[in-house]
Amino acid sequence: MPGFLDTPIEFLKGVGPQRAELLKKELNIATFGELLTHYPFRYVDRSKFHRVAELHGDMAQAQLRGVLGPLRTVGEKRGRRLTATFTDPSGSVDLVWFKGVRWLQKSLRPGEEYILFSKPGSFKGKVNFAHPEMELASTWDQGLEAALQPVYSTTEKLTAHGLSSRSIWKLQKSLLSQAEGQLPETLGREQVEWLGGVSREAAFRQVHAPQDANRLDAARRRLKFEELFFVQMHLLRQKQILQHNLKGNVFEQVGEHFNTFYKEHLPFELTGAQKRVVKEIRKDMGTGHQMNRLLQGDVGSGKTLVGLLSSLISLDNGFQVAFMAPTEILAQQHFATLSRFLDGMPVVVRILTGSTKAAERKSILKALREGAIHILVGTHALLEDRVVFDKLGLVVIDEQHRFGVAQRARLWAKAVVPPHVLVMTATPIPRTLAMTLYGDLDTSVIDELPPGRKAVRTVHRYDGSRNAVFGFMEKEIAKGRQVYIVYPLIEESDPSVNSGLELKDLTDGFESISRRFPLPKYAVGIVHGRMDQATKDHEMARFKKGETDLLVATTVIEVGVDVPNASVMVIENAERFGLSQLHQLRGRVGRGADQSYCILMTGDKLGNDARERIATMVRTSDGFEIAEVDLRLRGPGDLLGTQQSGLPTLHIADLVEDAALLQQARQAAIRVLDRDPELVDPEHAPIAGTLRELMKSSTIWGRIS
Ligand code: ADP
Ligand code: MG
Repeated sequence: MPGFLDTPIEFLKGVGPQRAELLKKELNIATFGELLTHYPFRYVDRSKFHRVAELHGDMAQAQLRGVLGPLRTVGEKRGRRLTATFTDPSGSVDLVWFKGVRWLQKSLRPGEEYILFSKPGSFKGKVNFAHPEMELASTWDQGLEAALQPVYSTTEKLTAHGLSSRSIWKLQKSLLSQAEGQLPETLGREQVEWLGGVSREAAFRQVHAPQDANRLDAARRRLKFEELFFVQMHLLRQKQILQHNLKGNVFEQVGEHFNTFYKEHLPFELTGAQKRVVKEIRKDMGTGHQMNRLLQGDVGSGKTLVGLLSSLISLDNGFQVAFMAPTEILAQQHFATLSRFLDGMPVVVRILTGSTKAAERKSILKALREGAIHILVGTHALLEDRVVFDKLGLVVIDEQHRFGVAQRARLWAKAVVPPHVLVMTATPIPRTLAMTLYGDLDTSVIDELPPGRKAVRTVHRYDGSRNAVFGFMEKEIAKGRQVYIVYPLIEESDPSVNSGLELKDLTDGFESISRRFPLPKYAVGIVHGRMDQATKDHEMARFKKGETDLLVATTVIEVGVDVPNASVMVIENAERFGLSQLHQLRGRVGRGADQSYCILMTGDKLGNDARERIATMVRTSDGFEIAEVDLRLRGPGDLLGTQQSGLPTLHIADLVEDAALLQQARQAAIRVLDRDPELVDPEHAPIAGTLRELMKSSTIWGRIS
């Protein structure tokens, strides 16, 4: 049964079919409910009045009460304008209008008392107002319901059709006047009490027409909480359902493979954090529920090894493993790493990518079906339908944020009982974001680097000191070290971006580096995403083997690439990289025992954001701290790409600003579900009802893997 809030917006008085269409197109408002959640983005205090005598040009806004003088038109044709004076007991100020002159002449009433609201401007050194908002004092007083007036986002097109912020406000008020008793409570008594007793209806009324600042704050808090609470409820419920309904494979044994490897092959001691995480994973996979675990750990913290140990547990229980990486280079590297670690053990590891030759692919697919391959490493190619496992028990996914939700769903289809899933990421996700996005995943954190690592020393240099930087590189190379020089090249797979310019930067860079570091003393390599795979691999391999001293590259080397002898990372045009990219790139050095350096090169002129990004990089190497700054600078949508991240739409809550409230909302949701897992308690009926509606209309919030 469609409720009041589902009523099409065209049925609201003052809207009609034409405006309804516009509202839908411009602001995505199609129903009463969607209008109500089109919240004001700020409020202006209209309880304060200024006096003409105290006006100055720096004021953001001024509100005056005074009398409008006679209207005069001056100028000709395009220069024609309307002027008037506006007088209060303290003095007079000039008003001017350039547009809509005819209409204004008809509607303004000289000699009457008006309320004027506008940002003061200045003309010839005198304060004036251009196109001030004017309202007759008589009607103003009647209409005054809020000293704090909401300001709504609108568009030029809407404004042209009479839907200014102020008109949207009128629509809200009209809607609220007929909404009495139609805005049922969605929370339980306990939550409402905790929120200071602000009901949902009261909150909507206050937020669109606040009586005072305190009540407005309470209302906003209530609406934010509600929004965050249901995101958490939704995620937690989904997790609960998964755990109840879906059996996972029980990996009870920790046997031969794991123990032999641990005792005889592991070349070093695990860090404390690695041990803890392996224990968590072991426990998960032994419960009989499907594991869904997110493993976060900074670059170089040793996630691959954790993935490997988890794989061995799967093998010990007779199950195969899919080990997925987002790029060919990474897949190759994982394959090499796993093969090296497992050398001398009876474990068959193979690799399958887009560039695997047909004949080999055929033999791999056959062996896989027969269970003769234990660990299959690969890229997206593993998702194809023809890739059939005999008994798939675990999927390890490296750098998951490059995999969409739908892609991960396809992995599930590859086994009767859904495989355990371990998602590894070196892009730390700020807590608030992780809670909202992955509230249904369990998370593990490796917060400790293997011993002996030296922190990378990071500096910022302007282009002008390039010679000094080259000199420094020379010294490092003389010590036998290797150097990366990275240029921004926007991801080649994005067709909307013309990266021709950047490609030129890169090749110019390569040429000037080759001149400065000439053969035969030096060898310079180049690698970028536009190269064919074979050339790329060849260049990477040469650098890895130490045959090249310098590698000019794009961000294709961003993730995972491991060359411990490389000790200098020079990033050109560093201001054009995002924080997480810079952090990833820096992670390419500092992987050996030597002191490593990261040099951020920029032009002289830096915007505020760029300046803060660079300063953050110089200040800290803590991935979580960097991620928090990134979230603050970019906002959650940009951080992960809202489209594929499945981030729920938040209308009023803000993951940066409302971090504390999010935490409280999550705790509240956990408390409710702990006490009443099926939400059958009558007190929770509103919650259960709202959640049902949400799940029905659901956006793809839920994580699938
Ligand atoms: P990540 O994938 O988390 O960035 P890797 O798994 O590539 O990190 O590990 C980085 C390097 O550290 C690798 O060369 C790996 O062999 C090494 N490593 C991993 N764990 C340890 C450890 N406990 N002690 C010493 N070295 C380790
Ligand atoms: Mg890695």
